[in-house]
This record gives sequence, C-alpha cells and structure tokens, in this order.
Amino acid sequence: MTIELRADKYITSRLETLKSECEELSKKAQPFLKVVLVGSNPASLTYVKNKKILCEKIGAKCEIVNLSSSISKEGFLKEIDSINSDPEVHGLIIQLPVPTQLKELDIYELVDSKKDVDGFSSKSVSHIYKNQVNDRSLVSCTPKGILNLLKAYDIEAKGKNVVIIGRSHIVGKPLFHLLNNEDATVTLCHSKTKNLNAICQRADILVSAIGAPKFIDTSFVKEEMIVVDVGISLDKNGKISGDVDYENVSKIVKAITPIPGGVGPMTVFSLVENLIIACRNQIYEN
Ligand code: NAP
Repeated sequence: MTIELRADKYITSRLETLKSECEELSKKAQPFLKVVLVGSNPASLTYVKNKKILCEKIGAKCEIVNLSSSISKEGFLKEIDSINSDPEVHGLIIQLPVPTQLKELDIYELVDSKKDVDGFSSKSVSHIYKNQVNDRSLVSCTPKGILNLLKAYDIEAKGKNVVIIGRSHIVGKPLFHLLNNEDATVTLCHSKTKNLNAICQRADILVSAIGAPKFIDTSFVKEEMIVVDVGISLDKNGKISGDVDYENVSKIVKAITPIPGGVGPMTVFSLVENLIIACRNQIYEN
C-alpha cells in the first residue's frame, strides 16, 4: 500500500521539545518573529496567519507588520532597518511576493543574516553550499522540511537518485545542495530540460516544485518511487492543487506527500524551528 508522507508524524514528534526550548529561552528573551507583509495578497495572508498560529502555539511571539502596497522603496527600507536593529526581535521575514516598486531590491539580502529565519541570505545559503550546516544554521524552510519529512519516515537519501524539478532560490537549488550533502545523486531540472519524463523515471525520489497543477502524471513515475509534491497552485476550477496528479500517481508509487498535510506544514514548522535557533544564537552570541 502507498505510504502517505504526512507532516503530522514529524510535527507531533517535535512539538513538545520545541515548546520546552521556547519556554527555556523565554526566561532570557521570548523568541519574537516579525513578518513584513506588503499589501494584502490573499494567499500571503493565509501563509502569514499560519506562521503566527504556530509561533503562538509553541509560546513564541509573532507580529505581522502590514505595510501599504504603495509604500515607497525608502519607506520599506526604513521599516526593515528598524526591525533589523531591534534587539527584541529574533526573526524577520519579508513575505513574498512584494509589489513591483520593491522588486528591484535584493530582498534576500535585506534581512540581517542573524534574523534570517527564511534562510534566504547569502550567508545562510553558503552553509548549505559549503556543507557546513550545523545546529546553529538557518536552513531554508521548504528544503529543510522536506529532509526532515523523509527522515521521519526513515527514507535515506544516501546513494539514491533524486530528481528535483524547479531550480528556484527558495526550493530547488538549496534542496539540490542539501541532498548532495546527504550523498544522494541529484539531478536538477527546469523548464528547458529535455526528456523530462525519462529523467524522472530514473528517480528513486522525485521532488516537484514547479507550480503547475497536476503536471506530474503517471508517465513520470514508477513503482518504488518516493514522490514529494511542493507545488501549490490553483487549478482551472480555482481549487488548490499540487504539481502531482495525486489520485492516479498515488496508485503506482511507494510513498507520496499529500496536499494539504505534506510539505506545506513542514515548511511552516521549519520556520518556527529556525526562530528558536535564531533566538538561541542571538542570546548566546557573546
Ligand atoms: P518559481 O520560482 O516560480 O520556480 C519554478 C521552477 O519550476 C523554475 O525553476 C522553472 O524553470 C520550473 N518549471 C516551470 N515550469 C516547468 C515545466 N513545465 N517543466 C519543468 N520545469 C518547470 O517557484 P518556487 O518559488 O520554487 O515555487 C514552486 C511551487 O512550489 C509553487 O507552486 C509554490 O507556490 C510552491 N511552494 C510551496 C511551498 C510549500 O511550503 N509547500 C514552499 C515554496 C513554494 P525555469 O527556471 O527554467 O523557469
């Protein structure tokens, strides 16, 4: 029978530990996350709300700083600077996407790397690239969540053929390096990749991070394959869908992440784990 790779399994096993860590740190400083949200994109509002709920569940503080969608570059930078220099705030996220007038800014580098709980800054990425990840590192949340989910189900990456579709800065590229560090043989595909079906067919583990509803059909998969669906998009009926045609693919493969309940909650949980790491690093940095 196909195994559903559910986030609950990992989250349930980690939640109490995370709460205790938060309580312990709070004796010195309550872990505090600020999320900067520019405008009111409905998907972003939902993501931000989920982050706040989980922070509060473990006893951390989370404040959403909602800025006007017409904010100037100068106004935005001033806000980010003030959060970067606030010693009470341990984690800062700039919720993407940002409006057009802010797009020319190098958003990933604006957050102080000590507070970069999204793990997008050059410093955070360099730990992954150089295989120097340790328990103080802020690893980008979706790739970190995927690795932890696989580990929760005792799925080893070492020696496996892993195919990732999607080469973004937030998913595909960091995941490529993390899995490479785990001694997997990793192939990173994208929109210009030729013979994608054939490449995917060779995978032991297939990760799709495209954003195209039900793109991965049965022609991409085989028995014994582990399928990780990162994509979240709306199908033609306006319903939330993953990249994978779950109904048909799940009948063939060995294990698959569901939507909802798979990679999404793992990403949010990784963020809160990173907040605890960032807070601990800042309290004990001297
Ligand atoms: P992105 O920056 O838009 O990147 C998409 C990637 O997919 C690009 O590398 C693109 O190739 C590739 N691609 C697009 N169409 C393709 C095709 N037909 N064949 C092969 N490759 C194709 O997206 P992202 O930020 O990584 O996000 C990807 C998806 O994951 C989105 O649906 C997003 O909402 C979702 N997501 C979910 C979570 C979660 O927690 N579940 C977290 C992050 C993202 P090129 O580089 O050649 O353009």
